[in-house]
Amino acid sequence: MLKLVAEHDFSFTAKSRKLKLFLAPEVQVLPARHETRPFSAAAHRALRACLCAGACLVLATPSHTAAAQAPAPRFVVVLDAAHGGDDAGGRLANGQPEKALTLALSVRLRSLLAARGIQVITTREADAAIDLDRRAEIANRANAQACLSIHASDVGSGVHLFVSSLPPAPPGRFVAWKTAQAAWVTRSLALAGVLNSALLRAGMNVTLGRTSLLAVDSMACPALAVEIAPERTPDHKTTAALDNPEYQARVAGVLAAAMLEWRSEAQRP
Ligand SMILES: [Zn+2]
Repeated sequence: MLKLVAEHDFSFTAKSRKLKLFLAPEVQVLPARHETRPFSAAAHRALRACLCAGACLVLATPSHTAAAQAPAPRFVVVLDAAHGGDDAGGRLANGQPEKALTLALSVRLRSLLAARGIQVITTREADAAIDLDRRAEIANRANAQACLSIHASDVGSGVHLFVSSLPPAPPGRFVAWKTAQAAWVTRSLALAGVLNSALLRAGMNVTLGRTSLLAVDSMACPALAVEIAPERTPDHKTTAALDNPEYQARVAGVLAAAMLEWRSEAQRP
């Protein structure tokens, strides 16, 4: 067994290749005194050998050690307002950039969830550019029970739910960064099902889809993209525009109710 400690994040650079690892729930946590950072050439050789042999890799950080000593029931939701900064996203009908609407929805949803006692971690709180890998890192560090990556579009009607198109894979100790979501796709589909039912009950149009989602594909938690479109009748008449605060509040309210339902399901013995 190779024992390593990652101090800041779970990134190890060996020559030009970057290997990213994160803790699986069953991984043993070591006290911080075992810290061996920076990694020596011998540690890199051992790491490679360990990976080839499929052996057990143990990682720990001081914060994880503390968490292991005082486990507490927790339910964390990560809200990822897509785009931001230089990446404006799509240009919406009223000229508003998508990045502004995704942030507005994230803020609304955050306060609704917080008011219901749900711990929320957001990937951004301002008009800032956040790297896709960084978004996934935030979700993976949070050990979240759900991550909603929020988008907006003028195309279609109601809410579009997209789950990663990665084929489901059994959970493993070593997970490739770009396909980490594969082990969670089944749970993500279940989460999409809960959101779908809540939105349909509220009389909203819902579209379910599978697609390749660069940030979501690297997330090791139930995760999906939630794309909000205007509300339209079957003959394409817009009944609620994206910048309508009442409509935004209605969508956020249904999503918050769905997350409460997801929490009950997640905490069911
Ligand atoms: Zn988008």
